[in-house]
Amino acid sequence: MSILKLKGITKQYGENTVLHGIDLDINKGEVVSIIGPSGSGKSTLLRCINLLEVPNEGQIFLEDQEVSYRVNKLKKLTYSSKNKISSYRSQVGMVFQHFNLWSHKSVLENIIEGPIKVKKENKQEAIEKAKKLLDRVGLIDKINASPRDLSGGQQQRIAIARALAMEPQVMLFDEATSALDPELVGEVLKIMTSLAEEGMTMVVVTHEMKFAEKVSDKVIFMDKGHIVEVGTPEDVFYHGKQPRLNSFLNKIQ
Ligand code: ADP
Ligand code: MG
Repeated sequence: MSILKLKGITKQYGENTVLHGIDLDINKGEVVSIIGPSGSGKSTLLRCINLLEVPNEGQIFLEDQEVSYRVNKLKKLTYSSKNKISSYRSQVGMVFQHFNLWSHKSVLENIIEGPIKVKKENKQEAIEKAKKLLDRVGLIDKINASPRDLSGGQQQRIAIARALAMEPQVMLFDEATSALDPELVGEVLKIMTSLAEEGMTMVVVTHEMKFAEKVSDKVIFMDKGHIVEVGTPEDVFYHGKQPRLNSFLNKIQ
């Protein structure tokens, strides 16, 4: 069953077209990794999926419902679409390269803010849920800590817990381990792997090829704003057809 579908997503910055009519169909429980050179449009694609960036053209469907976004002449979301979009966004969690935690709030406050403000959850229930999530990412002892006092790996695990607290249908990860010291990468990949194994639908932009090979149902190679190749990890990593894909894989290995 298709959970997230993109049709013809195009994004321009001024004269520069960075996404050229991207089509993508993601099934429930599927893990899709996106690989490709720097500047190929991977982050822009994820940002368009959760409407942090507004596409110039194209349609987005969540569970076959079209997500209607409207923009004014200044290409800003209009007020009425903003309300709908915050409800859509709560269903599409995102984890960023640089964590983006609120540094002036405690770990607990970071996690319960969205559920209380956006989903109008009762505070006590939000706290109970946050505790379970902290337990699952192995950081229950940091519940009252400030993100400033945590390692990068711990901050990213909190950011994952924060996204999960919204009970999203899909999780987007944009190079979630790229800003981490090498010895901290494993603890974050371990949580992402366990989420994948539990059936979370995930779209993962990553440079961790072994991880992508292990957890993905589908791998997408992007170059210059196009999807150039799509297939199973086996297809893409070992039987790539496009010279651009093979030259990219040779460079990073
Ligand atoms: P990737 O994540 O694959 O490295 P990005 O999606 O970040 O690529 O960028 C794709 C292209 O879009 C790049 O040429 C980049 O310079 C451009 N771009 C990204 N964000 C902006 C922006 N806010 N304004 C103008 N150009 C942008
Ligand atoms: Mg990027």
